Amino acid sequence: TPDVRPLVAGNWKMNGTRSSLDEIKAMAAGVDLLNCNISTLICPPVSLLYVATALATDSALEIGAQDCHARASGAHTGDISAEMIADCFGTHVIVGHSERRTDHKETDADVRAKTEAAWRAGLVAIVCIGETEAERKGGKTLDVLRTQLVGSLPDGATAENTVIAYEPVWAIGTGLTPSTADVEEAHAFMRAELKSRFAGEGAKMRILYGGSVKPNNAVELLGVANVDGALVGGASLKSADFLAICKAY
Ligand code: PEP
Repeated sequence: TPDVRPLVAGNWKMNGTRSSLDEIKAMAAGVDLLNCNISTLICPPVSLLYVATALATDSALEIGAQDCHARASGAHTGDISAEMIADCFGTHVIVGHSERRTDHKETDADVRAKTEAAWRAGLVAIVCIGETEAERKGGKTLDVLRTQLVGSLPDGATAENTVIAYEPVWAIGTGLTPSTADVEEAHAFMRAELKSRFAGEGAKMRILYGGSVKPNNAVELLGVANVDGALVGGASLKSADFLAICKAY
């Protein structure tokens, strides 16, 4: 049976050195003491991936990566394939994060290819979408979400192989969050889109909220209808903050 429990996932971005592995150890120990039925994941930089999976091996904490190339191997200097992530015992990969879309000009077509690569390697793809501040101010939020969902998700997405992360670009790393009403509207819209394309799988597929999730707003944000977990950046770097967010459940 697919694991469709709520997911609290941490994205360390380009942060973390070997000294940060103590945080992974503390998180691995901490998630096993949670008395709530959720899945937990940390995506450290790939430099720490293999050691992190070894540290988390006896824990429920899963370890993933932040990006992958669409190809399995080849002449792509500096890139990492989904197969390499799986080889290091990673279980998930984030694709299409807004920082990748901006810094590396990734398109929906690129994200779709990376999602297929993740599946090919047996990884769960965490597909990120979200509107910019200008798009929100222009009243285009739902149009943008529809376009990104259509373009970034391949046919064959299931509740098991895919997680959606809704991250308003203007809320990432800013301390700003949408109102709960706005989160509810966006998530209800995405749920309807996913159901119409993927039927029962779309009904079960997890839709995470991301963007300035902190211990002090997690209960409110994670309590919104159709919010099936969180993708957490800054507050996932320290085990105390990450575990406090998990305890919102
Ligand atoms: C992110 O980068 O996925 C994110 C949500 O960052 P933060 O929590 O720091 O806003």
